[in-house]
Amino acid sequence: MPKFIFITGGVVSSVGKGITTASLAKLLKSHGLHVTVQKLDPYLNVDPGTMSPYQHGEVFVTADGAETDLDLGHYERFLDQDLTAVSSVTMGQISQIVVERERRGDYLGGTIQTVPHVTNTIKEKVRGLAESSGVDVLIIEVGGTVGDIEGQPFLEAIRQIRSEEPRENTLSIHVTLLPYLGSTRELKTKPTQHSVRELRSMGIQPDVIIARAELDVDDAIKQKVALFCDVRPEAVIPLRTAESIYQVPQILEDADLTTLVIDRLQLDPPRGRDLKEWRAWVERQPQLRRSCSVAIVGKYVELHDAYLSVREALTHAGIEHDAKVNIRWLQSAELDNGRPPAEAIGDVDGILVPGGFGNRGVEGEVTTVIHALERGIPYLGLCRGMQNMVIGFARHSLRWDDATTTECDPKTGHPVISLLEEQRGIEQMGGTMRLGHYPCQIVPGTLAAAAYGAEADIVQERHRHRWEFNNAYRDELQAAGLVASGLSPAGDLVEIAEVRDHPFMIGSQFHPELRSRPQRPHPLFDAFLGAMLNEEGAAQRAVFASQAPSC
Ligand code: GLN
Repeated sequence: MPKFIFITGGVVSSVGKGITTASLAKLLKSHGLHVTVQKLDPYLNVDPGTMSPYQHGEVFVTADGAETDLDLGHYERFLDQDLTAVSSVTMGQISQIVVERERRGDYLGGTIQTVPHVTNTIKEKVRGLAESSGVDVLIIEVGGTVGDIEGQPFLEAIRQIRSEEPRENTLSIHVTLLPYLGSTRELKTKPTQHSVRELRSMGIQPDVIIARAELDVDDAIKQKVALFCDVRPEAVIPLRTAESIYQVPQILEDADLTTLVIDRLQLDPPRGRDLKEWRAWVERQPQLRRSCSVAIVGKYVELHDAYLSVREALTHAGIEHDAKVNIRWLQSAELDNGRPPAEAIGDVDGILVPGGFGNRGVEGEVTTVIHALERGIPYLGLCRGMQNMVIGFARHSLRWDDATTTECDPKTGHPVISLLEEQRGIEQMGGTMRLGHYPCQIVPGTLAAAAYGAEADIVQERHRHRWEFNNAYRDELQAAGLVASGLSPAGDLVEIAEVRDHPFMIGSQFHPELRSRPQRPHPLFDAFLGAMLNEEGAAQRAVFASQAPSC
């Protein structure tokens, strides 16, 4: 019989609910329990795939090809466990199911209502995952903040599950903020009181309150929150803003959250917690002895969350190399209009061009590639960053000044990046890209092969794109020194490309950042760090690359 933990947020958004959820999942897993996580998002999009990154931040893609909320990235990284499409539920999906059923006549003449039709569909999703996964504990995070109109059906469904289950089977955790008022020098509890009142008005009494704060929360404040919100004082868990998100599991563990959860849910974990390795890894972060700087040149850099997994992947690889990675964010559109890259990018150890869509920024990113080509600066291109690398290489080495992607110019004379065959004729936007895991055969003797090392041969990587390397130009580009170092098993899609006569220039059509984990950096990021830090391995890789066959 699985247990359910519901996590809601109060007072403000961005209070740290996602990290709290991921951390609790990690802590329970460290006791040997089987855990999984589900996110319930109240918006009416079926998935965030059609939303602007400025609205939503990164779209995280699961191995089975679902476009999901970035919190799923946190869950996967903290739990070190792949999740699937069923871990991401939106009100758009629920509405779609209900309307489809109504059109089919499934409701037999009934009037379709939020309660019970919408709430029953939500419960099916929650219970469905609990049963199909066979976990001991399912943690469900509700997106948004308590009090939002669109979140109410989720809260009502949770209320119902709580009343249907025995008391020891469910737990409600409310994550709130204790704002600090400088004038009176105190943390204020009133917004938390109001938020809990709002939650109770929906029929949900929290069992635990996690109180995020910029300062230490003293006992008097804990007592006050406990009294006004009707929870036990030990169930008020302070969560002071941490230097690193990876410290949060420890903070919650030190506050005895797991003991509380295990007792209250009458769980019987097979072992005591084992956080030793994780702790040791987290403690390395503030003590890194080296540093390097990387320019991320992209289209959505104003919102760093648009590249959340990229930033985390750099952090993971940095820790592996004992190096703090300092990121310089640069808007590629600035370079579109002729700002010289040397001035805009400055002196950095490496350049990374991440994913993106549409015209804006492409020219700036291509200029960036040419800058990296000419100066031998280590370069890592992710998806669009790989496509722009191919474009930059074609313009620089073959003097094809009109080389570009048909995404920007369908009539160009040198469409070195063109629409995937399978994408032709697709008109519907949502969920129709080439998504999720596809195998990639690593070509021996290449930079990619050196990076992947023992893992090499066939690797599974996550995709999200419509355009690809145009095979019509493969021979000419390869003769000029571009190496196709990762291919689909049939050999028809170039999944990784690299530049032979360059210290380190590599791009992947997939998104390696989505597979990077703490303690297990992604091989391409690992190799990129090595190149930026000028390690011996990097030199070896350059030799490898120069010997690679022009396949
Ligand atoms: N816009 C490009 C494509 O669809 C790149 C996508 C991406 O960077 N995720 O192929």
